[in-house]
Amino acid sequence: MSVCILYIDESGVEELGAGTSHFVLLGLCIQAHDWKPLDESLDAIKARYQLSRTEIHTGWMHRRYSEQESVPSFERLSCDQRRSAVEEQIRRRSGEPDFTAGRSTPYEMAFEQVLTRYQSFLSRSESIGIVVHDNNTKVAPRLHELSLKFHQVGTLYKQISNVVETPLFVDSYFTSMIQMADLCAFSLRRFIENDEADLWEIIEPCGDELNGIKVGIRHYTAKRPCKCRICQAHGRLVRD
Ligand SMILES: [Zn+2]
Repeated sequence: MSVCILYIDESGVEELGAGTSHFVLLGLCIQAHDWKPLDESLDAIKARYQLSRTEIHTGWMHRRYSEQESVPSFERLSCDQRRSAVEEQIRRRSGEPDFTAGRSTPYEMAFEQVLTRYQSFLSRSESIGIVVHDNNTKVAPRLHELSLKFHQVGTLYKQISNVVETPLFVDSYFTSMIQMADLCAFSLRRFIENDEADLWEIIEPCGDELNGIKVGIRHYTAKRPCKCRICQAHGRLVRD
């Protein structure tokens, strides 16, 4: 029986009507025996951009940096020149929601969904799995409590017999795989909110699939009908 690890991270804010129109909670699943080569290749890629031992946060990479825009011919400068030009700029400048939350918060509902879908995948692939979660002091106690309940009585949808332990909370600064989960969650939110498909189209084929239906990705809109690409691929009229 193989062992899987699910890395969970979020994108957007769960508070209704506060900043983002969607809240994404995403689990990136790898086989445990693939962890070492994957972690090493991520380190090698980061080293190419002088980002060894640095946290990659996709939201920051995607942000518009006005300091860079103020530097003439920024694209033609070397890395070191870009860095010192931007530091100089910084020194100069130093100076309605679709649904209402019910008994659970959006975060808890999303966590229950991700865990249920992970269980389905583990069961079909005859694997057992653990969950690794980005450390989040706000939600950690509640997710720990929820996980204990799910282990005892199952989620609303399934017994989670192939998942072991409660989530292990790690610091994303030290854990490259959590940074990759962040990248996937970010790209999904940008796709569903802004129709930015470039990054998401690379990740989308990795979503769990069963009989031609993308069972691994769910867009929750309560009773509001939705025909977006995710809902169509998920076959909303087909039961999970
Ligand atoms: Zn949809």
